[in-house]
Amino acid sequence: MTWNVHIRYEGYERRREVGRHSRALSRTALCAFVLLAAFTVAGCQGSGGRPSASVRIGFALGTLVQVRAYAHGEQADKAVREAFARIEEVEALMSANVPSSDIAAVNRKAGGLPTRVAGDTLYVVKRAREYGDLSHGRFDAAIGPLVRLWGIGTDHAKLPSPEEIAAARSLVDYRDVEVDESAGTVRLRKAGMALDLGAIAKGFAADRAAEALVNRGVRSAFIDLGGNILVVGSRPDGSPWRVGIQDPWKERGATFAVVPVRNMAVVSSGTYERFFEQGGKRYHHIIDPDTGYPAETGIVSATVLARHAVDADALSTTVFLLGPSDGMKLITRLAGVEAVVVTDDRQVIISPGLRGVIEISTGWTVRFYGLEDVQES
Ligand code: ADP
Ligand code: MG
Repeated sequence: MTWNVHIRYEGYERRREVGRHSRALSRTALCAFVLLAAFTVAGCQGSGGRPSASVRIGFALGTLVQVRAYAHGEQADKAVREAFARIEEVEALMSANVPSSDIAAVNRKAGGLPTRVAGDTLYVVKRAREYGDLSHGRFDAAIGPLVRLWGIGTDHAKLPSPEEIAAARSLVDYRDVEVDESAGTVRLRKAGMALDLGAIAKGFAADRAAEALVNRGVRSAFIDLGGNILVVGSRPDGSPWRVGIQDPWKERGATFAVVPVRNMAVVSSGTYERFFEQGGKRYHHIIDPDTGYPAETGIVSATVLARHAVDADALSTTVFLLGPSDGMKLITRLAGVEAVVVTDDRQVIISPGLRGVIEISTGWTVRFYGLEDVQES
């Protein structure tokens, strides 16, 4: 289900962004709004008008999706419609819950014959396998049996018995996912195995959406798939997009940090996303394939910045699973990738590349990974 919202007034659109992403920095943002408004008026009086915005909100891949794009004439609308079509295609191919999807077909044939899948599906499964290797098996695209068992985020979430966990765990191993690129097939070696691309498909969908926008001439856009953010270019006035990072202890939309970015994905994984509570304990949706239980690494949220959302999405889950130390070690090894980790004792650990870039609200203890000094913001 999608609906189109035509934003005619720049001022209205600016206020929405201020409210969503930058509660703590609202004064700064308000100043930016006033400046932008002035700039816009000047722009209108100049050489033939500013680009118009098209915004569309819908529901796909189990989450709220928003695409906002700027282009001249009718192009913005067309581009945004196309971006949504791409996202819906990814859902139709890769959702484990859509019976006609590639992934559902692969899962049905687990232990049997290989399944021919679309090129996009093959690519995402292949990338997920790479992240399995990179994380020494913590990121596991064959996590399906454990995800189903826990049912976190569904109306049948429950604490499974140790026997159920052991049985499901024995079916989870991404190395038993066979990808045959020349045949274009995927096969799961054991009956009962199941792929789940929940930690990577949204990122891939965002990349596809961005590609559609750029092909339609859009040079400025903001894509949000349930907190998986991908920005195209800069804001229409040429300044960077300002992406807020969720405060894990506050209501949705309340942020503790802002990163100014251009052409970048910013994706968070956290215990606050989907969970249930029982006996005073929180059970969240990122499962450690070794224990079969929600991962307890001391991280409450991991945010990764990367050029492509497919990487940022997979890496945010990977860092979460690896924990603060191994997670940050991995990030600093990767070129063009940055991360922000929040631990359960309210520490913020940031990769050194974000020093002087990221803006943190007051009251946080901040450490740049690999550097000695601790800062109080
Ligand atoms: P969100 O979907 O909330 O943005 P993530 O990107 O971190 O969060 O993905 C979490 C989802 O990934 C889970 O809902 C599940 O579908 C899947 N998942 C859970 N544990 C793992 C794991 N160890 N490896 C890969 N995927 C996982
Ligand atoms: Mg992820």
